[in-house]
Amino acid sequence: MSEVWEDVGEFAGVPDEFQRLWTPHRMAYIQAGPEPLREECPFCEAPKYPDAERLVVARGKTAYVLLNLFPYNSGHMLVCPYRHIATYDQATPEEVAEIGALTQIGMRVLREVSRCDGFNLGMNQGAVAGAGVDAHLHQHIVPRWKSDANFFPIIAKTKALPQLLGEVREAVAAAWPTDG
Ligand SMILES: [Zn+2]
Repeated sequence: MSEVWEDVGEFAGVPDEFQRLWTPHRMAYIQAGPEPLREECPFCEAPKYPDAERLVVARGKTAYVLLNLFPYNSGHMLVCPYRHIATYDQATPEEVAEIGALTQIGMRVLREVSRCDGFNLGMNQGAVAGAGVDAHLHQHIVPRWKSDANFFPIIAKTKALPQLLGEVREAVAAAWPTDG
């Protein structure tokens, strides 16, 4: 590739980066259609469907992993407990342990599959803190590159978002360790 990527670090201050990083997921679930009211919780619903339909990547005993429908970066994952709890301090020790373990595996898988250079991890607790779905706890795993070039750039240039997400999900799910 002969493109020269500009270093975003020279242009974006930390507050701007934070804003860009933690707000895009709001769009996925809050502005889901003309009807603003959404009765169902997307993170309670997703595990009820086949993995590919709701972008589920891996399932554990108390928590699971799915791709963010509106990712900040391609490969942006969310680790959620199955239980509908709002905040981290409501999680059981088993849930805390498994959310942590799934986060570690997710990092390794993303590093292997996408060759990312770093990560942002975090949980927004409450709508005031930027949580798009504030009623159901979710930990973000956002892969970062030095250039912040797209994950799978060739696919990204030629496919629409739903196709891209599907292919990213397949690649990540295929790389997920089966004993994980
Ligand atoms: Zn829920």
